[in-house]
Amino acid sequence: MEEYSFKIIVIGPAGVGKSSLIRRFVEDKFSLQYKFTIGVDFITKTVEYDQEKKVRLLIWDIGGQDRFKSLRRNFYDGTNGALLVFDLSRVQTFSKMKEWLSDMKQSIGKDIPVVIIGNKSDLISEIGEVINRNESLQYAKNENCLYIETSAKEGDNVEDTFIELAKNVIKKT
Ligand code: GDP
Ligand code: MG
Repeated sequence: MEEYSFKIIVIGPAGVGKSSLIRRFVEDKFSLQYKFTIGVDFITKTVEYDQEKKVRLLIWDIGGQDRFKSLRRNFYDGTNGALLVFDLSRVQTFSKMKEWLSDMKQSIGKDIPVVIIGNKSDLISEIGEVINRNESLQYAKNENCLYIETSAKEGDNVEDTFIELAKNVIKKT
């Protein structure tokens, strides 16, 4: 058994579902009540995605509020991989997400695996497609990132996304 331990950060604008994705992944729970994250939260979860590999993820949940911007630089220290989240139902979170990516790239100064997440995919059936899927895919590709659509509410793709990130981090180490 090979064992790994990684620091994973979950970043992106406020209200896109970062804390909800983590909660779904770690506890398999979801709430529609919005409780915003102040500063940073930490949680660990160990995944064994095949019989040979055990990965301990130290997950950092970053408050998306602009007023915490000055703290972000410290959060990036020692990061092995990132989940960068936007909200499929709010178009402005897509462009905000791009700012997060360039900010992060600048701070970290080297290439780390990043998965861009379009979250709240459950809302698409209600409100229609707000952000073109091909555009998101193309953007992710250009930035050398993966792109995955998730629903923290329904649990769709959530676990897979964390595991995909972990696999990509292992590939890089
Ligand atoms: P954060 O600020 O990025 O951490 O966002 P939260 O996880 O606190 O979620 C913000 C709001 O969006 C909350 O009301 C959540 O219940 C809701 N939310 C999060 N993920 C989903 C999702 O996949 N689908 C839907 N419909 N709502 C979601
Ligand atoms: Mg939060």
